Amino acid sequence: MEVRVRFAPSPTGRLHIGGVRTALFNWLFARHHKGKFILRIEDTDKKRSTKESIADILESMKWLDLEWDEGPYFQMERLDIYKKYGDKLLEEGKAYLCYCTPEELKDRRRKGAYRYDGRCRNLTEEQKREYTRQGRKPALRLRSPSTGKTILNDVVRGKIEFENKLLDDFVLLKSDDVPTYNFACIIDDVLMKVSHVIRGEDHLPNTPRQILVYQALGFDLPKFAHLPMILGSDHTPLSKRHGAVAVSQYREMGYLPQALINYLALLGWGTHESKQLFTQEELIERFSLEHVSRNPAVFDPKKLEWMNGHYLKETAPEKIVDLVTDYLKKKKLLPKEISPERRRWIERIVRAVGERLKYIGQIIDYAGFFFTEEITFDKKVKEKFLKKEIKPFLKEVKEKLSELKQFKERGIEEIIRKELEVFQIKPKIGAQAIRVALTGQTISPPLFETIELLGKERTIERLKKVL
Ligand code: GLU
Repeated sequence: MEVRVRFAPSPTGRLHIGGVRTALFNWLFARHHKGKFILRIEDTDKKRSTKESIADILESMKWLDLEWDEGPYFQMERLDIYKKYGDKLLEEGKAYLCYCTPEELKDRRRKGAYRYDGRCRNLTEEQKREYTRQGRKPALRLRSPSTGKTILNDVVRGKIEFENKLLDDFVLLKSDDVPTYNFACIIDDVLMKVSHVIRGEDHLPNTPRQILVYQALGFDLPKFAHLPMILGSDHTPLSKRHGAVAVSQYREMGYLPQALINYLALLGWGTHESKQLFTQEELIERFSLEHVSRNPAVFDPKKLEWMNGHYLKETAPEKIVDLVTDYLKKKKLLPKEISPERRRWIERIVRAVGERLKYIGQIIDYAGFFFTEEITFDKKVKEKFLKKEIKPFLKEVKEKLSELKQFKERGIEEIIRKELEVFQIKPKIGAQAIRVALTGQTISPPLFETIELLGKERTIERLKKVL
């Protein structure tokens, strides 16, 4: 049997860590088995689906190189297909028309009904005519069994039994003929010949309902594999509260796609090796559903950052300079066109920052002051490092530096060391005062190099301002 899997996001927000982990596991499974990876956009929630979300999902997947073999299919373009199968179930008596209005259903729920009571199950033709005359538009509900069990043999979670009496006659087609997720998903999985349904564990409660739909339609079940939840550091389900959770946010921050892929692959999957760093080929070669964990995975942004730092170290310096330049242009800290000379200057800054840089956006933290005219001071930092007593020293340094002909690291260092001695100031304290004066912050690349790269004019100007 050919392996055919799908990723079926609802476009109601940006592609997030949980969604893309599902996409990745499907993709790895397809590539491992030389099968097909299908992309299907489940856009039937008309109110919450947006074009922006669709664009974000597609772009994020392309950026991560998760290329799909088929699709994207859009469910809203397939309404007549769902209708056809709905009609079939209706004809066979496996589904029935329900004339209850959303308001009535809501009211009943408010009064304590936790499931649909099946009151439209056996309407007479006359009752139906009467409802139609009242202008009610019917929805289509599945005639679910009220006894027995529905059994799921999940590849990850093993055998799970669901009591049918807990499943109600759920809606397949709403009164406007738009299908519900539990219906459209099954029709599509069947027609798209999906062999394995690999998705998040949050869908486990839907699975028995979906199995009933397969059975009503007389279709064979695919294999199901439910992936463990992803939790935040406080062990609650990962959400916006935990910080950046959208792929595009990581992209904007300057993460590398290969780092994100490597990190996501380990969220709920792993090998027996202690190895953490895997190339794409290694992941494809090793991936199997047998090694998907049943336990929730904890998303650790620090580990992702560490991993990204590793991939940055492996990236050609030229490429890092490109990424930094693009990043700064996007932040409007560099003009669109830059001269070769300016590029060499950026190269030197990137080199000076070195391995401190764990993702491209951190260039702002370490070297943002190179790219702004005005620097901002944290009040506390200013009070601590730019005390009155240090000013005569700074003044002298400024004087001497302004006389320096060759504004190079070596000469700069000589001047500063000498003045430290003259003023009897501890090197650490003196150097930190200069750093704060020039950068507004307490961290920067090595000081003398920073001063050279900042240039004479800006150095003098910034010292003057502080004085
Ligand atoms: N549209 C569903 C979601 O985004 C798909 C679930 C499934 O894979 O069946 O969660």
